[in-house]
Amino acid sequence: MSAAVSTELKLISHWIGGEVVPGRSGRRGPVYNPATGEQTGEVDFASVEEVDRAVAAAREAFATTWRTWSLSKRQELFFRIYGLVEEHRDDIARILTAEHGKVLSDAQGEVQRGLEVIEYVCGIPELLKGAYSEQASTGVDVYSIRQPLGVVAGITPFNFPAMVPMWMWAPAIACGNTFVLKPSEKDPSASVYVAELLKEAGLPDGVFNVIQGDKVAVDRLLEHPDVAAISFVGSTPIARYVYENGTKAGKRVQALGGAKNHMIVLPDADIEMAADAAVSAGYGSAGERCMAISVVVPVGDIADPLVEAIKERLPKIKVGDGFDPSSEMGPLVTREHRDRVASYLESAPAQGATVVADGRETAPEGNGFFLGASLLDNVTPEMDCYRDEIFGPVLSVVRVQTYDEALRLVNENPYGNGVALFTRDGGVARRFQFEVNVGMVGINVPIPVPVAYYSFGGWKSSLFGDHHIYGPEGIDFYTRTKAVTSRWPDPATSRVDLGFPQTR
Ligand code: NAD
Repeated sequence: MSAAVSTELKLISHWIGGEVVPGRSGRRGPVYNPATGEQTGEVDFASVEEVDRAVAAAREAFATTWRTWSLSKRQELFFRIYGLVEEHRDDIARILTAEHGKVLSDAQGEVQRGLEVIEYVCGIPELLKGAYSEQASTGVDVYSIRQPLGVVAGITPFNFPAMVPMWMWAPAIACGNTFVLKPSEKDPSASVYVAELLKEAGLPDGVFNVIQGDKVAVDRLLEHPDVAAISFVGSTPIARYVYENGTKAGKRVQALGGAKNHMIVLPDADIEMAADAAVSAGYGSAGERCMAISVVVPVGDIADPLVEAIKERLPKIKVGDGFDPSSEMGPLVTREHRDRVASYLESAPAQGATVVADGRETAPEGNGFFLGASLLDNVTPEMDCYRDEIFGPVLSVVRVQTYDEALRLVNENPYGNGVALFTRDGGVARRFQFEVNVGMVGINVPIPVPVAYYSFGGWKSSLFGDHHIYGPEGIDFYTRTKAVTSRWPDPATSRVDLGFPQTR
């Protein structure tokens, strides 16, 4: 990167100990506006020493400040954080659209879903209550208390640069931990903006830190002796890597991975409703959602009319710059990712699939990283477009003849994040929720992201670890319990005269 170029670009740096800290490693990465293809910024990549500095700030804040704050003070602060994030919801959304590319309404929805997690942890005094057993044995009481872990870290993906960090830092900090966030290097600005809001709300310096970077920063967090736990959300190969290395270093780890979400449509389903759902869940946010529908599985004779109904809807999807209020689908995050997603429109027909809609033909002109809505029919499980997580606006249709065949397809898939069933038959729906090996199930709901008071997480290669994220399991993940067994002498038998009547 030449000095002449970098002076025109926005520089995105670390946030350590309550202030912006410019990087000193000499390593940086580019940040783009995906709608125009222009580079708009540069982000610092941390060295090992810079990660150590952030962890030291978090450790210091834990020991000297945060551990001493009462529950009611923490609760009050979280109400203020909620208010400030809500007040600045549109500013955050604009930052997301500028670097990620998603349309503004979608970006606002992302902030809203993050706010719901902040709202949930406003009830932290209730959530941290322990248990108490009086007179477990004569004169002996037993109780449990929940304590924070210390310094915990979050490593997040590009596709939800505000919400996924909120899934982590809000419960972690409310539980009494201090936090180091390593956001995606593709859209790093939102994290620093949120850090400023947290400071404005009154969060003490060092409780929330942001370290920008790549594998160097991740590897240091994984081995750092002062980091007690790691939350990760991203692709499956990196989730597995983070889980294996974090646990080897003795840390508690929850690592959420990739997905291949199926939507089964039974012959009795409402075709219009199912087609609307497939389009919004397949192409919303350009398919860059871990809960996006990637495979539609029509059962029996519904296949032809369903594919036709989806096809009819595709020309109506307005693809364009996320800041244009008429746009419904924005660009993909980088040129390389767009090209990789588009490559399935070559490989799928070569392997026997039918291209019903080719998004290369409908993408807007210009240098933006666009791809229009694409539909592949007659896909089979051996094809690359079925086996790989595409993570873009390419929807595959795998036709099957029976419910059992559809169920087997889902259960044999290595991923198990989300799944949806469309039917009018409550009995079949109930059987499906019993039989399917997937962590989040939608019945006539295409994207079954759990509300904030349940927990989010997949099965199989979509999650490594024992805890789902946010909700009650998030509270469990960010605390450890201590059981206390106590015996106090009865004052009546005490040798010190406290004024109680003596019984013997
Ligand atoms: P990614 O795995 O490439 O990156 C995630 C994080 O890991 C980033 O912070 C990145 O800097 C870091 N990273 C990347 N390569 C690394 C390496 N070799 N060593 C150490 N760290 C590394 O994922 P992404 O492309 O940013 O996000 C998209 C993926 O995230 C998709 O697979 C999607 O399904 C998944 N995702 C899953 C969920 C879920 O809840 N299960 C939610 C959102 C996204």
